[in-house]
Amino acid sequence: MAMSCDHPDLLPLDEALRRLWEALPAPTLPEVRASRDDPAADRASMDGAALRAGDGRAPRQLLGTLFAGDDPAGFVVAPGTAVRIMTGAAMPAGADAVVPVEQLQTTGTTVAPVIDPKPGDHVNVRGVLARAGDLLLAAGTPINAARVALLAQEGLPIPPAPRIRVAVASTGDELVANPGPHQIRDSNGPMLLALARNLGAEAGLRAPLPDDPVALAATLRAPGDVRILLTSGGVSMGEHDHLPAVLKELGAEILFHRIRLKPGKPMLAALLGDLLVLGLPGNPVSAYLNALLFLPQALARLEGRAAPDPWHSGRLTAAVKHKGDRPLLHPCRRMEDRLEPLPGRGSADLVTLARADAFAWIDPPGQEAGGMVRYLPVL
Ligand code: AMP
Ligand code: MG
Repeated sequence: MAMSCDHPDLLPLDEALRRLWEALPAPTLPEVRASRDDPAADRASMDGAALRAGDGRAPRQLLGTLFAGDDPAGFVVAPGTAVRIMTGAAMPAGADAVVPVEQLQTTGTTVAPVIDPKPGDHVNVRGVLARAGDLLLAAGTPINAARVALLAQEGLPIPPAPRIRVAVASTGDELVANPGPHQIRDSNGPMLLALARNLGAEAGLRAPLPDDPVALAATLRAPGDVRILLTSGGVSMGEHDHLPAVLKELGAEILFHRIRLKPGKPMLAALLGDLLVLGLPGNPVSAYLNALLFLPQALARLEGRAAPDPWHSGRLTAAVKHKGDRPLLHPCRRMEDRLEPLPGRGSADLVTLARADAFAWIDPPGQEAGGMVRYLPVL
């Protein structure tokens, strides 16, 4: 009897994503210390004139100009003199303030402040940001673009951006190149390869694996030079669904198996040493959606980026019937932010998957027409 039953053992999607995130290591930096004072000299923080504040508003004789990068050694600012100075230039000896252009009265050869300058005005004092040897970032800080800038400033080596290698392997004895009516071609493999490459991963496609625990174990034991193995099939309750048992036998850490999602319930993630196995369900729509949800999360973590948020929001143009107890991802055509539900024909429906622009998140069941929903755009 078809009946809606609660699945208390199924892991909510958010929790599964969080577990994956926390199980993976982000690339981190070694301890970063200042190689010299920052700034290494007193520097102007405005374009203007470097002068002695104590001379007040009196006109000063201009001695010349200092640009960023100029050595200031050629100038000594004595009382009654000033040097034109640009942002970032080192301060000349004798000067203790910069008066910005906007606050100067200038003739050809003199400048006079129209305000009362104070010592230190618009000067970044040597060492104000850091002293040579100061700890700038603790060891183990995740890398990001701003931290790369700090490494560059300190003259430290910049770690190459990690390139995460992904292998895609379908499983199933039914997968052949020239199928009889009882067989099919491997459509998940090329789909997942394209998806992984769209996400910027270095990905390769393997030949489909047979439904044989020995062959599965051999592949898992010697995955080659890959960080993520994206499999499809063999993770549900069928007698040929060997992947969970084989992973356990090999001592893998199962991060989760079976999530609260329709389609895509049998999803599995495991760590076998450094190898992340994303065990996607075999049905094409399930495999696609789970890859779209979990692969960007894994790549972002391993590449040292922030967790991705793939969700957009839109308005359904019609109600989606959904009586189940799991959140449903329903295929839609999308026009701007309007989502027109396509007839839902289940997780084996590659035809509808290929026609869809987006998948609407239907939770709670029975979303009303015109209701705002979140959706995943297809990739
Ligand atoms: P499984 O999860 O292995 O039980 O597979 C579920 C369904 O998805 C079955 O109908 C399989 O034939 C189908 N399937 C599994 N792998 C693939 C694949 N690589 N390409 C297309 N369909 C597949
Ligand atoms: Mg199978």
